[in-house]
Amino acid sequence: MAYKTVNPFNNKEVKSFTSLTEQEVAAKIDQADACYKEWRKTDFATRRAVMKKAATIMRENKAKFAGLVTLEMGKLISDAEGEVDLTADIFDYYADNAEEFLAPETLKPKDGRKAYVEHDSIGIILCVEPWNFPYYQLVRVAATNLMAGNVVMVKHASIVPQCAEAFEQLLLDAGAPKGAYTNLFVDSKHIAGIIQDRRIRGVAVTGSEKAGASVASEAGKALKKSTMELGGSDAFIVLEDADLDKACEWGLWGRMNNTGQCCVAAKRFIVVESVADKLLKQMTECFSKLKAGDPMDRNTTLGPLSSEAAAQEIAELTETAIKHGAKAVVGGKRPDMPGAFMEATILTNITKENPVFYKEFFGPVAMFFTVPDEKAAIELANDSEFGLGGTVFSKDVERAKKVASQIDTGMVFINRPTWTSPDLPFGGVKHSGYGRELSKEGILEFVNRKLIYIEN
Ligand code: NAP
Repeated sequence: MAYKTVNPFNNKEVKSFTSLTEQEVAAKIDQADACYKEWRKTDFATRRAVMKKAATIMRENKAKFAGLVTLEMGKLISDAEGEVDLTADIFDYYADNAEEFLAPETLKPKDGRKAYVEHDSIGIILCVEPWNFPYYQLVRVAATNLMAGNVVMVKHASIVPQCAEAFEQLLLDAGAPKGAYTNLFVDSKHIAGIIQDRRIRGVAVTGSEKAGASVASEAGKALKKSTMELGGSDAFIVLEDADLDKACEWGLWGRMNNTGQCCVAAKRFIVVESVADKLLKQMTECFSKLKAGDPMDRNTTLGPLSSEAAAQEIAELTETAIKHGAKAVVGGKRPDMPGAFMEATILTNITKENPVFYKEFFGPVAMFFTVPDEKAAIELANDSEFGLGGTVFSKDVERAKKVASQIDTGMVFINRPTWTSPDLPFGGVKHSGYGRELSKEGILEFVNRKLIYIEN
């Protein structure tokens, strides 16, 4: 797809960008490789200074960075500001902790000799990233790899080109040498060719299952390590002993944050029948109060989706659900206003035969299921191709922990929706992908854990 800024609030094109030619891509790989040869030799203090400076620049220019996010993909401005803060926090986190995470590990071989594992950089990491958190997705791969001595080349989503450029410029302004972080305006069909280059040593994708499967197979063919952070259809389980006010409040946030376009959004509400009607009534009231409007306006509580295509897609999926017997207790269609909007929607009566049952609703549409008991809730939660996050609501934390252990996903949060923090590992299982980002685990994905053994 061509790189373009189109404001989803009014669907007007703002700016278009030219994609790189094959020769230009080749020159950028040369530059990244030359940079890597020097960057790998830098000490932690040098790398740390770049990360710290990047964090400071982001915080000092929050309005500029956040404004671009809202313009290009419609995130509510206060949430865009929150994303800028989170991004800066991740820069700081790896600046502060990478040296400790990557310190050599002493081993104790049975033969009494000395041995240790050191964590060496490996080279250029190619990253393919989505638009839903235009900076946060980038810092997850940039801060880890740059602190580890790797360099990164990033194909960002085609609808957020100004954010992509702003992030590359941020790292240059923070003192990173040219080639340490390279923004690539390339069509996704060229990714396979870039992976073949022997200087590309790892591939990280965050995006849909379709993109993940395609890039993972190319990486596999070239025998390159990859990490995949893909889609999700997280269950939000509410047991009969839950605090329903809290469940409603968090459920609203978990589903509607980023206009429902989070991989770890609460997409399937699975509620034990003795409390289901009450919670559905509460949630319906909350959903119907959301006010669609300009995402730059701080009074708006429901922004547009990221693009007209995304709005059409979720509206069609909702229509399919309804055609096959689902009931929209609130919302269900696109509102009568310009821009990439979709009504806040709750769907009930979704049977397993409904073609949407296994789909990911990437927008403000909640699926609401009623189940007889805890056992049925766990079964339904696990009846998904995905395995990213999930939630269990219960006042009995020990009980919730037991339920969490039976959920087949990479993350489960108790009494709040799944969310992210620099120091918590993030990632999934099944079709949600493999590998982890953030925390110590994230920085160890693309390093050579090299054994050194000393005979005498
Ligand atoms: P997408 O279509 O897969 O796009 C993501 C990125 O992949 C974009 O840069 C896109 O480029 C590129 N791409 C698409 N097809 C490709 C291919 N065949 N080869 C190489 N690159 C390709 O995903 P999206 O719809 O924008 O994002 C939403 C998805 O991401 C959802 O499924 C969501 O759950 C998932 N997600 C997962 C996480 C996580 O951490 N697990 C986090 C956020 C989002 P173009 O823009 O040029 O098409």
